[in-house]
Amino acid sequence: MPIFTTGATWRIERPHTLVVACSDGRLQVQIDEFLREGLGVQEYDRLYLPGGPGALATSGDEFARSERATSELTFLLDAHKIESVLLLFHGPGPGGPRGSVCADYARKLRHDDPAKVRQQQEADAGEVLRRVFAFRKVEVRALFCDVREDLALDIVEYDLGKGRAVRHTQV
Ligand SMILES: [Zn+2]
Repeated sequence: MPIFTTGATWRIERPHTLVVACSDGRLQVQIDEFLREGLGVQEYDRLYLPGGPGALATSGDEFARSERATSELTFLLDAHKIESVLLLFHGPGPGGPRGSVCADYARKLRHDDPAKVRQQQEADAGEVLRRVFAFRKVEVRALFCDVREDLALDIVEYDLGKGRAVRHTQV
């Protein structure tokens, strides 16, 4: 006997969006909400690892980890015919709690200075774009989940055009 039967049924069609985000359980409900209500994305493939897209980057001294994560990513891109990738980083926005600094970055950089972690995340987004996606016909967006003082999350898009992620200027 099964212990549970789902109401939601297996999807025949694959989604063609892949979300790369941190495993941190404190921001999953919010990511789902943003995707559903902000982007209209209901279903998506997931590559959730500590550090999110940071696990793909060669920063720090963990080249083997980056290689492994990148090969998992390229498998999904090819086998699941991914057309659009969202790289989701997280950390405190202005006035946000220091505890929302990505723990994987704090481990990798051996400090949790929010500004310096953010700098590294921006550089990593650019590096991942250049190294992994340069020759692929995939739309890639870099998004930062900024935890605010009131603990809501602002999702901020960064421009990947200049070799690192640069915060979009307000219009
Ligand atoms: Zn994290």
